[in-house]
Amino acid sequence: MAADAVIGQRPRTDNDAMANITKEDVYEAGVVGAGGAGFPTHVKLSGRADSLLLNAAECEPLLHKDKEVLRHYADLVVEGMTAAMRLVGASTGRIGIKDKYHDVIDLLRRNLPAAIDVVPLRDTYPAGDEFILVYDCLGRVVPPGAIPLAVGAVVINVETAMNVALAARQPVTEKYLTIAGAVAEPVTLRVPVGVTLAECVAAAGGATTPEPQYMVGGVMMGYLEENHNALVDKTTGGVVVLPAEHVVVRRRRQDWQQIVRIGRSACDQCSYCTELCPRWLLGHPIEPHRAMRSLGFNLVGEANVVGTAFCCECNLCSLYSCPEDLDPKNVCTQNKRRLAAEKRRWENPPFSPQRADAHLENRKAPMARLMHKLGLSGFRNLGPLREQTLKAARVGVKLKQHIGSPCQPVVEPGQRVTKGQVVGRPPISDGKPALGAPVHASIDGVVKSVADGVVWIEAAG
Ligand code: SF4
Ligand code: SF4
Repeated sequence: MAADAVIGQRPRTDNDAMANITKEDVYEAGVVGAGGAGFPTHVKLSGRADSLLLNAAECEPLLHKDKEVLRHYADLVVEGMTAAMRLVGASTGRIGIKDKYHDVIDLLRRNLPAAIDVVPLRDTYPAGDEFILVYDCLGRVVPPGAIPLAVGAVVINVETAMNVALAARQPVTEKYLTIAGAVAEPVTLRVPVGVTLAECVAAAGGATTPEPQYMVGGVMMGYLEENHNALVDKTTGGVVVLPAEHVVVRRRRQDWQQIVRIGRSACDQCSYCTELCPRWLLGHPIEPHRAMRSLGFNLVGEANVVGTAFCCECNLCSLYSCPEDLDPKNVCTQNKRRLAAEKRRWENPPFSPQRADAHLENRKAPMARLMHKLGLSGFRNLGPLREQTLKAARVGVKLKQHIGSPCQPVVEPGQRVTKGQVVGRPPISDGKPALGAPVHASIDGVVKSVADGVVWIEAAG
């Protein structure tokens, strides 16, 4: 069945196909984490866990694609979740979604298998952090330096679950993403992988500000993309368009020298950044105020700030907690990268999981306050799904859209390809594919070039 026929008409997958979905299907379909860094899903589903969590918390301000995918394709998402539960051996499934989305929760609860339940979450940031979600859904605390599997949990994103449900019949060739902020018509789009960000913004009616700035992936954990013709890949969750003078853009443009100079002189060691840090609240030994203190020592990276390795880069400390608008997150991440480059690890770090029970609930950051602080309250906070796939005359399919090794191209310029055809595969290492996932043509057409890690395809006819 053609890919459009499967999603476009919103059929349920038939039970036989779903029951038979294998990790090989998931690999061949090129399924990777659609909500984060693109970890290959077939590897994630190789773990054994008693619980599988669906991460529908979507806490990046103004982004809506997970809720929209659930609103339109709840059955497929739950089917993918069920298949994933079977693959990891989980007897329990939990869907973590904010309690304010009553309609989606009602929709889900109408048709859930007995093993799966909905966990309504408060409207806070970062509700979608995997470790926070594991605690909120299961009451378990992931130790520092570990992954959810350490406490018997596997977490997958909404769109990833849908792609798992479809894996036996169609590869990942499309992406859902919200275009929000300073645009004429905030919207969640369904686009071929490989269109440009600018095409997506144009499809949202265009920018409503003279020098639009693109925050890709969201204002909290995303990045400022100067190249508006950058390509959408399997991990792109959204674009928030902002005016050039917006506070979020100004903060992103601060260079490291400014961060250090201002941080060294203005940090009063109030420690709010630590007291509200979600990972510290889970009992991990991350203390951003001590990282800030180390700026005065000229020795960022010394032992007393090594806990920065456990920073999840949520940006809450810099964009919400700090009353001086300093940038402890960047200080932590600089330190984290330096420690990683030096291959320094903190073996057996201290861990105080009881802190989560004592403080986490009371110190969660309300979204409304975060939006206000970031100057985002004036934007329309919606993104209805436009189900028809965006038309593209040309796409650039990146050979690396995942964690692991870039794919090697398996097509040549001049070759005709059809939507869903493999155009790149992970290299073989020690007789098996390196960490990664195949990539596929997202439109019918002709390969125009293969250059700089991108397969360029022009639409047929
Ligand atoms: S919240 Fe700001 S001022 Fe307070 S310790 Fe952290 S960085 Fe320093
Ligand atoms: S970015 Fe800041 S608040 Fe978030 S985990 Fe790192 S130190 Fe904690």
